[in-house]
Amino acid sequence: MAAEKRELAIIGGGPAGLAAAIEAAKAGVKVLVIDENDRPGGQLFKQLHKFFGSKAHNAGIRGMDIGKMLLKETEELNVEVWLSSVVIGLYQGNTLSVVRTEREGQKVCTVEADRILIACGGAENALNFPGWTLPGVMGAGAAQTMANVHRVVPGQKVLMIGSGNVGLIVSYQLMQAGADVVGIVEAAPKIGGYGVHAAKIRRAGVPFYLSHTIKQAEADDETVSRAVIVGLDKNWNQIPGTEKTLEVDTICIAAGMRPLSQLAWMYGLKHEFIPELGGFMPLHDNNMESTVKTVYVAGDTAGVEEANTALDEGRLAGTAIAQSLGYMGEEEAEGAKAEIRDRLESLRLGPFGERSWAPRNGLWKGR
Ligand SMILES: Cc1cc2nc3c(=O)[nH]c(=O)nc-3n(C[C@H](O)[C@H](O)[C@H](O)COP(=O)(O)OP(=O)(O)OC[C@H]3O[C@@H](n4cnc5c(N)ncnc54)[C@H](O)[C@@H]3O)c2cc1C
Repeated sequence: MAAEKRELAIIGGGPAGLAAAIEAAKAGVKVLVIDENDRPGGQLFKQLHKFFGSKAHNAGIRGMDIGKMLLKETEELNVEVWLSSVVIGLYQGNTLSVVRTEREGQKVCTVEADRILIACGGAENALNFPGWTLPGVMGAGAAQTMANVHRVVPGQKVLMIGSGNVGLIVSYQLMQAGADVVGIVEAAPKIGGYGVHAAKIRRAGVPFYLSHTIKQAEADDETVSRAVIVGLDKNWNQIPGTEKTLEVDTICIAAGMRPLSQLAWMYGLKHEFIPELGGFMPLHDNNMESTVKTVYVAGDTAGVEEANTALDEGRLAGTAIAQSLGYMGEEEAEGAKAEIRDRLESLRLGPFGERSWAPRNGLWKGR
């Protein structure tokens, strides 16, 4: 079967992939976006809350509305989008194997692209404890998908493990959906996420169990009925005798995310372990180009951060790709990229002007 040829194939239609598609298409590149879901937007359509930060970073706009704006722009620019399509292989020569779902069934096809952008997002980390495979134990992202996308509340008495922004936001959204959050367990001695999210939950009377972890989940029948939590000492060892048993029917794990980079490994892109960015991530330069020329990475795949960084990394990659294909002159492209890099740097410096990680090995995330 002959391969279909494209100038740019983007794997993943989340904020990073769509932002890249828009920038590249605006410059004239013929773009194909491939996403496994039946609607593009990645995590954005789960994010019913308003973003905050600066105006340049969509402050005050709900994640799902940012998603709608991106979809409208990609449609207006005639970006080709394959939905319900999974990229299952990425090989030398910029060749992709894609399983496409059509009315007649599934078919596998091959695409060859002059440029590739891998923007597959991230995956939630699991936590292993006795009972972790019981029905009712799930990732916080899964609970968020159930509540905000499918409108099904996963349970009535929820215990959240992890107080980072994902744990806090999903807890609040489950409360809005009618669930009772019986507590938030955090192994560190302080809350991990933004104070603004934590304060809303505290005001609603949800207890935070700091310096605690989950010891086990128990079931009366086949699904979770109780969670046993336990205090931790300053070396993170469990303190015998501090166990508490909580009646729950759902346990959500919000223990961080890692880059979803299997396709990047498959292609042979060089990776490095950067714990602050979620673990192994494909290295890239300040154009988002990986260690293999013509292959770019952006968003959570290129190190887990947040939606606004994913959007700007996508814009940076899209601009750099348009330039590399000759659709943008050097002056125009370099000016646009410098502006995006400045925005990214200000996002990463945060309110206190400090980065939590540093560029390294001559290849870096950022400037
Ligand atoms: C539960 C949760 C809550 C969050 N809340 C916030 C928040 O409030 N604010 C914020 O700024 N950030 C939040 N984030 C983080 C933010 O959503 C991500 O940083 C952002 O979505 C990353 O964008 P992305 O484009 O890299 O990936 P994604 O949005 O994950 O998009 C990647 C897309 O690629 C698709 N894909 C993956 N592999 C393949 C394949 N092989 N073939 C085809 N398609 C594929 C995926 O299905 C997905 O649609 C949250 C994340 C989670 C998990």
